[in-house]
Amino acid sequence: MSITLADHGIQQALDQLGVKEINLGTSTGKQWFGTGALIESVSPVDNQLIGKVHETTKEDYEKVVKVASESFKVWRKMPAPQRGEIVRQYGELLRQYKEPLGKLVSYEMGKSLQEGYGEVQEMIDICDFAVGLSRQLHGLTMHSERPNHRMYEQYHPLGVVGIISAFNFPVAVWSWNTALAWVCGDVCIWKPSEKTPLTAVACQHLMTKVLEQNDLPEGISCLINGDYRVGEWMTNDTRVPLISATGSIRMGKIVAQAVAKRLGKSLLELGGNNAIIVTPDADIKMTVIGAVFGAVGTCGQRCTSTRRLIVHEEVYDKVKNALSEAYKQLSIGNPLDERNHVGPLIDKDAVNNYLNAIAQVKEHGGNMVVDGGVLEGEGYDSGCYVKPAIAEAENHWEIVQEETFAPVLYLLKYTGDVENAIAIQNGVKQGLSSAIMTTNLREAEKFLSHAGSDCGIANVNIGTSGAEIGGAFGGEKETGGGRESGSDAWKVYMRRQTNTINYGADLPLAQGIKFDL
Ligand code: NAD
Repeated sequence: MSITLADHGIQQALDQLGVKEINLGTSTGKQWFGTGALIESVSPVDNQLIGKVHETTKEDYEKVVKVASESFKVWRKMPAPQRGEIVRQYGELLRQYKEPLGKLVSYEMGKSLQEGYGEVQEMIDICDFAVGLSRQLHGLTMHSERPNHRMYEQYHPLGVVGIISAFNFPVAVWSWNTALAWVCGDVCIWKPSEKTPLTAVACQHLMTKVLEQNDLPEGISCLINGDYRVGEWMTNDTRVPLISATGSIRMGKIVAQAVAKRLGKSLLELGGNNAIIVTPDADIKMTVIGAVFGAVGTCGQRCTSTRRLIVHEEVYDKVKNALSEAYKQLSIGNPLDERNHVGPLIDKDAVNNYLNAIAQVKEHGGNMVVDGGVLEGEGYDSGCYVKPAIAEAENHWEIVQEETFAPVLYLLKYTGDVENAIAIQNGVKQGLSSAIMTTNLREAEKFLSHAGSDCGIANVNIGTSGAEIGGAFGGEKETGGGRESGSDAWKVYMRRQTNTINYGADLPLAQGIKFDL
């Protein structure tokens, strides 16, 4: 007998979140509409159809942008701390709905239930951060070179922010953007991944409640649905001054060019090829836990997943053996069952990419330390469950240079100084996350120095994944250069203005230029 959505507890979650069997996919807050084709959301957990969402049509899109542009005029007038209060209320609602939303994230995307809850917690955390930020959107004051002049800078809201998100963090990435953009006075239009439309519908329902309770106009939070074509309407739209796009490097290159063509702003959060360096002084127990979590967590589908382990020859065999022992302990299966460590890949295409990566390693003659394969039999009917694999490889192989969004970990050996390991670590096109495992202060500091890791994230004695929201998140090189979340990442959602005020009775010019009439 097949397991129903109700047996999984998913039907109850959908009911609580207001997600139906067939959903309108376009929303300006109060209004929901949509006549477009239906996107089916099928769970990678067991291939069940969870629900359908109407794609946004061009006509619907036009309506959304108009409403959003109008609501911006109202929203930007509201004092920032009051906007923060709205975000605080959203955070409160997320606390209330953490369980059903986390469960739906887990079931629609396939990540473990713990990670599903963790994702909603991350939304709550960024709301808290944004509330505090709403009283700290400050610029600098400078001393003017002219007498009786005052100079300072201030930040103003930008306008409509377009958010394009990836399937693997179906809700958190949206909230990293929106929570900040909202307190900054912007309104948002969200195009989630076409692979995870239902969690997006759920988030929009929750935000709608907050906006209605506060009698705010529609358009502050908007949702559109569809594939790249719907995304392209936004990237080409001059009414959307900022596009924040999270996804593959392939997508980022297209989006960056479209936005640059109209001289818009883009914030790009793209793929990574993250490595942990393991030096002779590493704590091996910590290394193994960090590496295994980094490589198999979310079934290797985090942008910060550990893809390469660069291990010194002195400890190479020890690390290799410890890892293969650890992999034997992994249980793979239904991510809603908390006993399982690893859930499914998102779909069959992802499974094919995974198989192709392993095939390429074998073609190169690479040794499979832990062999991969697709799991079959009871509980694995979706065909998306794969065995996390470890391969001995070389950094220059094309497949190692690429991000394969699956649990394949490449073991790379280094000899000599830590500089050699850093060169391997930096020897890829991507620059998202990196880590070093060492108890040697000199090695750690070299890794963090200007000549060290070239990534946006560089950790010591922590794996590559699992960032906190307080720091700015993002990466260099082909990862796109964008920063989201904490620190001063909010500045990208605002426009900076420099103001000079003359409170004297003369009009001196800068640089001492004389101009008398
Ligand atoms: P993807 O690039 O296939 O799709 C991402 C989003 O972009 C989707 O919403 C998609 O519809 C949209 N899109 C695709 N082509 C577009 C176009 N031409 N114009 C406008 N929109 C377009 O990525 P995915 O498979 O959903 O996600 C996995 C990728 O995302 C991985 O590479 C991963 O590393 C990356 N990612 C990066 C971060 C980060 O913060 N750096 C975070 C999460 C995921």
